[in-house]
Amino acid sequence: MLTVDDDPGVSRSVARDLRRQYGERYRVVRAESGQQALDALREIKLRGEEVAVLLADYRMPQMSGIEFLEQAMDLFPLARRVLLTAYADTDAAIQAINVVDLDHYLLKPWDPPEEKLYPVVDGLLEAWTSVDHRPAREIKVVGHRWSSRSYEVRDFLARNLVPYRWQLADEPEGQRLLSAAGEDGSRLPVVITTDGEPLVEPTDAELAARVGLSTTPSTDFYDLVVVGGGPAGLGAAVYGGSEGLRTVLVERRATGGQAGTSSRIENYLGFPDGVSGEQLTERARRQAQKFEVEMLTTRDVVGLEQRGPARVVRFEDGSELAAHTVILATGVTYRMLDAPGLSELTGRGVYYGAAATEGPNCRSEDVYIVGGANSAGQAAMYFSRYARRVVLVVRSDSLDRSMSRYLIDQLEGMENIQVRTCTEVVGGRGAEHLEHLELRHNKTGETEAVAASWLFVFIGAAPLTDWLDGILARDPRGFVLAGPDLVVDGRRPPGWILDRDPYHLETSLPGVFVAGDVRADSVKRVASAVGEGAMAVTLVHRYLEKT
Ligand SMILES: Cc1cc2nc3c(=O)[nH]c(=O)nc-3n(C[C@H](O)[C@H](O)[C@H](O)COP(=O)(O)OP(=O)(O)OC[C@H]3O[C@@H](n4cnc5c(N)ncnc54)[C@H](O)[C@@H]3O)c2cc1C
Repeated sequence: MLTVDDDPGVSRSVARDLRRQYGERYRVVRAESGQQALDALREIKLRGEEVAVLLADYRMPQMSGIEFLEQAMDLFPLARRVLLTAYADTDAAIQAINVVDLDHYLLKPWDPPEEKLYPVVDGLLEAWTSVDHRPAREIKVVGHRWSSRSYEVRDFLARNLVPYRWQLADEPEGQRLLSAAGEDGSRLPVVITTDGEPLVEPTDAELAARVGLSTTPSTDFYDLVVVGGGPAGLGAAVYGGSEGLRTVLVERRATGGQAGTSSRIENYLGFPDGVSGEQLTERARRQAQKFEVEMLTTRDVVGLEQRGPARVVRFEDGSELAAHTVILATGVTYRMLDAPGLSELTGRGVYYGAAATEGPNCRSEDVYIVGGANSAGQAAMYFSRYARRVVLVVRSDSLDRSMSRYLIDQLEGMENIQVRTCTEVVGGRGAEHLEHLELRHNKTGETEAVAASWLFVFIGAAPLTDWLDGILARDPRGFVLAGPDLVVDGRRPPGWILDRDPYHLETSLPGVFVAGDVRADSVKRVASAVGEGAMAVTLVHRYLEKT
């Protein structure tokens, strides 16, 4: 409840009367000018709280009670409004009923409150509580539907399992929030934290720090640094932590990795009904936390070196983290579709990976998916729940060689999924957002322009390991070599000084291990990534015992 009166004595006594009767259930906020009251309301709005009743004095010097209520309505349209007037101002109060849709006017003085104030406020509260106003202490993202940064921010929060509410900047609640944050909508997105702090166009690192994700290590030396927070990294972290190693996991963007973007993993042991990547990630994170693993997000590792017995990883900002051992679990990153017009539309209709946050936005529209592997098939199943029609665009003449049988059967069972084989996406255009795709039949050469607002691309992936150049042995495609693959014709890798061969998952730098998709010739599966993460920890112990 907020009350405003320029006479401090009156203001105090209204607040006192309200607190006495309603103080247990409501917070009573008091202001002595319209401006002060509006500032308080903006703060309340940003904190995600609600206002039930506004009581404003009519005669205030800079801003009348009516002017105040008019502006307050922009922030809290559902708050009940009361004007406090002297007898001589009754006419103005009656007019205000039309201007600000006034609920009540109260003649001053209102003594005794039991007779003149509380019955009125009781009635207003009853009307107000009949609507669900439970305050939502949640993060809000205000942005533009077709802005790629707005999409990235939502994707970042979703993949880090941070709940948020999405508000379009051009809808009334979005506008209210922007106005409360003092923004005019030219700088988007604006993220409002649960403490009510507006973050304008935040970077991932700023966002992470403000929404409770850890970004800085608590110390500078660990037993084990795990680089990458996908299944392999999370697996390694859980085993490392559970076996008593001081472990820190460093993730560039969001834990879960590729698996975190999967809508349904059907073949992971122990989940006969399938499990979403989000659920699996959430459980793995909780498990790692239970074993006191530190998890840092938005930290990109860009360098690795040996410094005496220590292994040191370097971050983008030049800071470093040292440990006895390192497990690299950096996985792979999606390849971009190289067709004219698509790169400009990335994040505005063109997406890489599952982009599950966009599902509900595709309702009743056509969705195009490029790719013939399981990831594309899973995405087609996921989007078919929302879209009018899902078109799977596949380069080869059949899915048989690239997709699991169970998924092909599921796709065939869906009426709104169509598979177009021998077809490639060769272009895309759109002004603000994707509008058209150009498809080519690769046998006949025929091209066709189709209206399309949504394209999700799953065309394979590559390891991003250039930063390991000259430090670790890699295969020609950039995958990290380990164990027996490093010993060629009985010769150990160049620079190897130990009188033993590298352990199974050990790289060409002793004490640095590799697990999951980034390892050369690895099996690209969740189970194998988790398994290798666990196995790498066993080898870490063996390495530590012998050094
Ligand atoms: C949509 C989709 C569906 C899939 N479905 C299945 C399925 O049903 N069953 C199955 O078995 N497999 C499935 N897979 C494959 C499976 O997800 C991968 O094999 C698995 O995620 C590999 O795990 P990983 O930890 O090795 O690598 P990733 O999952 O790729 O994780 C690597 C992580 O490292 C981070 N990273 C990279 N470089 C750095 C750096 N320099 N610094 C810090 N962090 C870094 C990345 O941001 C990423 O989070 C699917 C994949 C996709 C994309």
